[in-house]
Amino acid sequence: MLTRELDATGKNVPVIGQGTWQMKKNGLDALRMGIDLGMTHIDTAEMYSGAEEIVGEAIRGRRKEIFLVSKVLPSNASYKGTLRACDASLKRLKTDYLDVYLLHWWSGPHPIAETMQAMEELVAAGKIRHIGVSNLDVDRLKQAQKALTREKIVCNQVLYHLRSRGIENRLLAYCESQGIAVVGYSPFGQGDFPSLNSKQGKALATIAERHGKTPRQIALNFLTRRPSLFTIPKASNVDHVRENAGGTGWELNAEDVQLIDSVFPAPSKDEPLDMF
Ligand code: NAP
Repeated sequence: MLTRELDATGKNVPVIGQGTWQMKKNGLDALRMGIDLGMTHIDTAEMYSGAEEIVGEAIRGRRKEIFLVSKVLPSNASYKGTLRACDASLKRLKTDYLDVYLLHWWSGPHPIAETMQAMEELVAAGKIRHIGVSNLDVDRLKQAQKALTREKIVCNQVLYHLRSRGIENRLLAYCESQGIAVVGYSPFGQGDFPSLNSKQGKALATIAERHGKTPRQIALNFLTRRPSLFTIPKASNVDHVRENAGGTGWELNAEDVQLIDSVFPAPSKDEPLDMF
């Protein structure tokens, strides 16, 4: 598995990790196999009911190998609420630290300054190593960073798949200029992956054939083609995990990228940030 430094963390993190939204107990073997295959960046959240417990089980005895990320819900993101939510996540995950703790999205009653103050306190207490955010556009990202006094935001987790390339305008460039990693979620469009009969599916199949890969591996490779990009597909099926692990470690060429651009056009101007 290709790894690259996740910007300000200074840590080498697999380019393809594992998501856990809607993961049920039957996903445990898949998660474990993903770890064996080097997909040790595991994304979870207090919102993904039951998933943190499954992750806790999957990483038991292997914590040091794992780059573990969880998230606080906006409704819990007051100063005290953030501290409490983190403790509860740590308990469910059966660990004593997170590698990154994210604000899941920004809405609700709690000022960002409160959330970020709690996040810095969690770093100081050794409960989280780094602070991140999710679903923030450039303006809100700037405000979140400004609310921090000592720490730096290390990543922004955002929707990014072939049919949703809105981040490629302003957000990606801004994050790259600030050394903020961009972790793309829902790389397969949450089950809306182009069918083989569609124009988009056929284009992916053509590229896949050139490289001896599958269309989904082409998608994952494309979505991680820049050094700031990471992706976190969710798979509960071990065959899916095996396939996803093969999405990196080789490169698309200019002709492939051109074909992808022609059937999945990037937006030509700024668009509001899409959310799940
Ligand atoms: P996704 O990864 O785009 O798609 C997951 C679906 O694709 C599952 O049904 C899975 O099936 C299937 N799949 C995975 N690999 C496959 C393969 N090789 N072949 C065929 N099907 C395959 O959707 P997602 O779960 O929305 O996004 C991934 C992760 O991003 C989440 O789990 C979560 O951790 C994170 N996320 C974050 C936010 C946020 O607001 N920060 C929002 C959404 C998601 P099986 O499970 O049956 O294998």
